Amino acid sequence: MVKKYLTMLVILLFVLTGCTAEKKVSTEVFTAEKYLLGTDITVSIETGEEANLICNEVFSRVKDIEDKMSAHSGDSEIALLNAGAGKEKTVLSAQTYHVLSQATEFAAITGGAFDPTIGSLVQLWGINSGNGKVPVEQDIQKSIALVNYKSLQLAQDGTNCTAYLPHQGQIVDLGGIAKGYAGDEAKQILLANGIKSGMINLGGNIVAIGKKKDGSHWRVGIQNPLAPRGTFLGIVQLDDKSVVSSGAYERYFIKDGKRYHHIIDPNTGHPSESDLIGVTIIADQGIAADALSTGVFVLGLEKGIKLVDSLQGVDAILIAADKKVFTTRGIEDFKLTDGDFSL
Ligand code: ADP
Ligand code: MG
Repeated sequence: MVKKYLTMLVILLFVLTGCTAEKKVSTEVFTAEKYLLGTDITVSIETGEEANLICNEVFSRVKDIEDKMSAHSGDSEIALLNAGAGKEKTVLSAQTYHVLSQATEFAAITGGAFDPTIGSLVQLWGINSGNGKVPVEQDIQKSIALVNYKSLQLAQDGTNCTAYLPHQGQIVDLGGIAKGYAGDEAKQILLANGIKSGMINLGGNIVAIGKKKDGSHWRVGIQNPLAPRGTFLGIVQLDDKSVVSSGAYERYFIKDGKRYHHIIDPNTGHPSESDLIGVTIIADQGIAADALSTGVFVLGLEKGIKLVDSLQGVDAILIAADKKVFTTRGIEDFKLTDGDFSL
């Protein structure tokens, strides 16, 4: 893993998004960055004596989450759970158990569009391996049969938490939810340290804490799914929320001129081909925003809006393939800035 550790004192207060930074001169902000969970994590807080220590505390918590929940490292709790599929149950830490329970809840809420047992399909397509390939349909069907969040057995007895995958070959993959949880944990550390204003960017997942230091709202750019990373089509203003985006632009490979992206529709076993090309969820909890951004992307526009409207405190900006942009009721301050799209 690339070990990148950068701390710097900047005089820029920035606005980030689906990975976009808009620079603005403002008060002094301390920014620290580290590569974790397969992405760059940036913490920006008010400058102070303790700022460096606080950021380090955030990074060690996120590292701990990576160590426990990564599907890639051989000895994470999730790797052990997967290795025990069809054989034995695995003892889990309270944190991993919590994320798995939440993941199955969001799987239920999205009718299985988000499914943490998607792993066999993710592996089959070579997603996250940097070595994507189009599988044969027979293998896809075999993998689909293993994807079912309802079969994941979670049990808690006092402080003893366990999980069991009953079928050999079943694989849990928390890639669609772990960053959201990590953002929530990072926020808790900042709050516990008395930070009232700050921003955490986990590879495009934004956690805005409080308001900006000068009392104004955070401005978060929304990625244009059809343009290179960092190009935004609009800006939403908000305070104290998590903002998570999913889109076909994040990770993909091209085979015979066709683009295959990294969000799989558990029903078809293929990269999702809904009428959406980008989804941003805004919620109090990052874990909810992350799971729902992946799930709503798979569900598509109509079902996606219906679902978001039914959830309290959850809002969405949905970008359809025909370049129409939809916002749900609670989004009060979204400005479209790219004339190629319409509201
Ligand atoms: P990002 O990778 O940008 O954080 P997402 O939050 O949408 O985007 O997560 C995508 C990741 O989630 C994939 O790389 C894969 O590991 C996993 N995944 C893919 N399809 C699904 C799905 N239908 N349900 C749950 N997780 C999924
Ligand atoms: Mg997600």
